[in-house]
This record gives sequence, C-alpha cells and structure tokens, in this order.
Amino acid sequence: MQDPSPAAPLPALDVGWRDISAYRAGTGDIPYVFTFTAAEPGPHVVVNALTHGNEVSGREVVLALLAAEVRPLRGTLSLALANVAAHDRFDPANPGASRFVDRDFNRLWDDALIEADTQSVEAQRARELQPLYRRADRLLDLHTTFLSDRPFFVVPDLEKAIGLAREIATPATTVVLSAGGMHGPTLMEYAPFADPDTPASAVVAECGQHWARAAVDQAMAATVSFLAKQGIIDADRAAGLSPPLPAEPPRLYRMSANLFATTDSFHYVRSFRGFDPVGEDEIVAWDGDQPIHAPHADAVVILARPHPKRGGEAMSFGRLVDGDDHHAE
Ligand SMILES: [Zn+2]
Repeated sequence: MQDPSPAAPLPALDVGWRDISAYRAGTGDIPYVFTFTAAEPGPHVVVNALTHGNEVSGREVVLALLAAEVRPLRGTLSLALANVAAHDRFDPANPGASRFVDRDFNRLWDDALIEADTQSVEAQRARELQPLYRRADRLLDLHTTFLSDRPFFVVPDLEKAIGLAREIATPATTVVLSAGGMHGPTLMEYAPFADPDTPASAVVAECGQHWARAAVDQAMAATVSFLAKQGIIDADRAAGLSPPLPAEPPRLYRMSANLFATTDSFHYVRSFRGFDPVGEDEIVAWDGDQPIHAPHADAVVILARPHPKRGGEAMSFGRLVDGDDHHAE
C-alpha cells in the first residue's frame, strides 16, 4: 500500500529492479500485456503486476509464467505489467519513490477521473489498460506492503470478491475494504468489478514485504491457486510452478476505519507489523498534538503507513469477523 519517506529505514532489497524492456511488445495492441486464448471456452482471467511500480513480486510472477510458457486449458489468460513507467524509475537507493510517476495508479479507477486527467503518465496508461480490465472476468492484482509481513487479500465489500479471495485461499487472511476508504477508487473497485449484479470480480493480494524473496513465493502461490481454481491450469502444472506454502488458518477482517493524517508531524507510539491488537483506550499515535486512539474495542491495526503527511493515508483499523486470531504471530 503506502510507501515510506526516504528517511524511513528500508527493508532489504532482495529482489529489486530488472530491465523488462524486452517485454514491451506483448502479444497484442497493449504494451506489456500478454494474452493467450484456449480453444475451450472459459473465463478471461487477468494476473496484474506492477500496479505500483516498486512492488516487484508480481513482475517476477508474470515473467516466470511467460518463461514457463503457461497457456490456458480453457478461456483466456492475460498477464499484465501495469505501471512500467514507474517501475523504470526504480532507484535502489530510494525504492519507495517509484510507487508511481505522477499519481497513484491504484486510486484513479473511475472512467470520468481517467478521462479528465490528460496530463499524468498514470491516466495515459489507464486508458491503454481500460479495455483489458473491462474484458476481465477475474483479476488478481499483486502487491506488497512496507511494514506488514503477514500476507493478506484486500477485497471490496462484495460477496463475489470475498468469495474469490477465500477460494484462492493463499494468503489465508482477507481484509474487506470499507467503502470509500482510500483516497480514490482502486482497480478492484473499477466497473464492472464493483457491480454486485455482474460476475466480474477483482481482488488485491498483499503478498508480504516489498522486495522480499518470500513475497515472490507468496505471489506465485496465490497466482497458481487462482489459475487452478479458474480451470486455467491443472493441478500438475500448479504443483510444478509453486511448491505449497505452510497452511495458515483462514481469517476474515473488516476494515473499520481508515485514518488520514491532518498534520505533517504524525508519529506512532510503537512499531506495528500488521494486524496488531490495540486496546480501546490505548494511544497508538500522535497527529501533531492530537492523540490517536483505536476507534473501538477489539481493534487491530491492519496497516500503519510510515511517515504519513498531511492529507495522506495513515492507519487502517479493523476487526476480526471470522476465524481465530489466537494463532496470530
Ligand atoms: Zn501496492
């Protein structure tokens, strides 16, 4: 999700930038998009990487699927490298900076917003990718986070999306987004994914910490499970692409509050790793001279974004609604 200021300590850069210019041609008329169609009818399934230019685990998955020449047994498989312009600006000395070029590619998914933006690199790329996303029946959007090391799905508050995340089952934790919780509409909220009356469905997998090898393994496991459940690949192919990860108990959280910083001096009273339980009366952060409390009993801090600035997304709180949290790390 959010990225650090340059002053924040950075996770180790196990998996960083690589030159992907050789993939520009793709297979059709959208650069960096590969589409393969089977003779057998079936769903159009999209694996989406690099929505954020510095979240490289999805890129590794797409390149691995291309190298393995994975083709659908039925339906259509598309592999997309989304914000390549941001990825191309990846700086190992400041890898947080290449999340986007002009604006967050994952906060603009409304046709009117995209049409109105004639300036940004991201809106231009969104116009290229709109036809692909509008044709998708199922979409898995691969991300990583800065702090949290427990992988999780983020899904819109729709039964079809919650069902898709639980069907994929890895990551085992799912967070249901509160409506309008982010600064702008995310890709998984784009029409027709947001329409409860259509079957099209999209989910985000937050696969672990940015640039960690384990996040690549988690992204591959999620993708392989997704493709197998959709009938795009069979069980043998799935097993060959990704060894099984240790099983985790399924847990479902609802995001209950998404807090924005109101000052430039927002700081936490302790470090949060993700899904940290907090007491109802506990002060968890200071926004200038204002104490920040958990918004309700039985709250967890789903995500605490490093060094939020005034107006920026700071903390997401939630509560467990299904599953057992006693095994939480
Ligand atoms: Zn992201």
